Amino acid sequence: MKGVDRAALREKVALFPTGPGVYTLLDARGRVLYVGKAKNLRARVRSYLREGDDGRRFYRHLVAALADVECFATDTEKEALLLEHTLIQRHAPRWNVKLTDDKSYLMIEVTTHGEWPRARLVRARGRGKRGTVFGPYASARAVRETLRHVKRWFPLRTCSDAELRQRTRPCIEYEMGRCLGPCVRLCSREDYDAVVQEVLLFLQGKNDTLLPRLEARMREHSAALRFEQAARLRDQIQAIARTLEGQRVAREGAGDQDLFAVAAGEGVAAVLVLHVRSGQLTEPSSYELRGDLPPAELLNAFLGQFYRPQRYVPREVILDRDVSDRALFEEVLSERRGAQVAVKVQVRGERRALLELARKNAALLLSTGEEKRRVVDEALSGLQRLLGLRRRPRRIECFDVSTLQGAFTVAAQVRFEDGEPVPQGYRTYKLRTVEGQDDFAAIEEVLERRLAGGLERGDLPDLVVVDGGAAQLGRALSAAHRVGLPPQRTELVGLAKARPEEDPEAARGYERVHLPRGGAPVLLEPASLECRLLARVRDAAHRAAVRAHRELRRKSALRSGLEEVPGVGPKRRSQLLKRFGSLKGIRAASLAELEEVVPAPVARALQDYLSRPR
Ligand code: SF4
Repeated sequence: MKGVDRAALREKVALFPTGPGVYTLLDARGRVLYVGKAKNLRARVRSYLREGDDGRRFYRHLVAALADVECFATDTEKEALLLEHTLIQRHAPRWNVKLTDDKSYLMIEVTTHGEWPRARLVRARGRGKRGTVFGPYASARAVRETLRHVKRWFPLRTCSDAELRQRTRPCIEYEMGRCLGPCVRLCSREDYDAVVQEVLLFLQGKNDTLLPRLEARMREHSAALRFEQAARLRDQIQAIARTLEGQRVAREGAGDQDLFAVAAGEGVAAVLVLHVRSGQLTEPSSYELRGDLPPAELLNAFLGQFYRPQRYVPREVILDRDVSDRALFEEVLSERRGAQVAVKVQVRGERRALLELARKNAALLLSTGEEKRRVVDEALSGLQRLLGLRRRPRRIECFDVSTLQGAFTVAAQVRFEDGEPVPQGYRTYKLRTVEGQDDFAAIEEVLERRLAGGLERGDLPDLVVVDGGAAQLGRALSAAHRVGLPPQRTELVGLAKARPEEDPEAARGYERVHLPRGGAPVLLEPASLECRLLARVRDAAHRAAVRAHRELRRKSALRSGLEEVPGVGPKRRSQLLKRFGSLKGIRAASLAELEEVVPAPVARALQDYLSRPR
């Protein structure tokens, strides 16, 4: 607490209440370092102002940066727990246990606000979402696949709220039997709500309830001679049953449970959560957490964040170790579920076997994570040594340009941190000053824009990799020089494949790294960790540049293909593109489908124009 008036801070804390509440620890710039809850606010916060530490590394860092503290008293510990969760979500403090990979998870939300619910993908944070959220799933592929099943088997609307309001007749989804057509009231509220309930059961994995329900409805349709609907339901039942069989391992005798196991290592821990729904083990979720809290404390902090308001709460929560807030969790979760929830530690039989499974997988997750970190660590140290870098290249950004003989030129930037791609750091640049085919000038312009912006925002990588040789690197260095980039802050290198005419090793896949100081490039062995890491970063940049280039061409083809059609301006062009994907897609669309996007006279003119021979 250098420069901080500890006496003043102690005086402030002496006025804190001795009841429950939430406190926030702040640094000298007023940033929230840590949010915690306490039974006795004054005693808890005082412990941060005592000399010495409690042996934990995080504690030492935290106390060193601490400059101010604030508190908020609550009536009960339960309120404090809820408020703590909200504040952690809002401030994402540096020293709280965070579900760091949370934001990258896609989840499925069944919107329950508004008149006609629908199922859609949402990001895991889900703040402001008003529906029931399912997930996270093991992968983006898994969540998309599940949503695809929902859309195929359950006739809920897929259109946006705005579109729903504007419709005067149903869209093609209705014609295909994939939507009940609530937009123009082609179904009753009861029928629609019944489908919503079925979707919820499906996403909860409650096939024991879902399938008999669908079968009953199928029989009703048959009895009423609605054979088409009955046949559709039969197909749906068979498809769902097949999927469930393939996806899940049956577990006899268990109800709905979440089972948690923690494996802790040096400054990092893995949490594995098994989800049992209607006695069946569904896809587990896994989390990697940073920090050196003891496992029980870590699990306690994790649980506080895991059960966000929209998350489904099962009947039983089973932990691999006891946590200090167990009784409190039981109370809060029971309230949220609207029925008693048991948070257990001692379990037997099947539950014990499941908990063992969770433990084993948490340990596995931790060891594979550790191995991955070790490899990345070695690759980063190797790069620093081989390339003579001043800084360890924890954050690398790579730039590549894609063009078609000077047309549709676009540059892409990708970012990797600790050897992993960071999608938030991906960016594409349309060039402002370069005309014709001049990749060198393109690199210079883009680097100048990126580095100037980065200097201003204090947001720079440790290493910039330019896809290319000495010439490209030279132009990138000019840009860096012009914006006044200190070389000790960010270093630049060029990465190029070794050329067969210059290097006999080229055929073996060596990479050449060109350095700012000039001289012979550093040759990286293809099998080395350093080479694999840099090649991975460069390939990601290449793919991003090609993707952006194709997108530009697609939009341009659409623009030139439609610019003579009366009534089709930029806004309608982009609506058409969004709906049909390409000029080919628009050409293949029926008049009725076109009319769903543009007014009838424009749709006719469009069809007429596109059917003309050219
Ligand atoms: S039929 Fe109506 S409600 Fe259903 S998706 Fe189409 S526009 Fe939306």
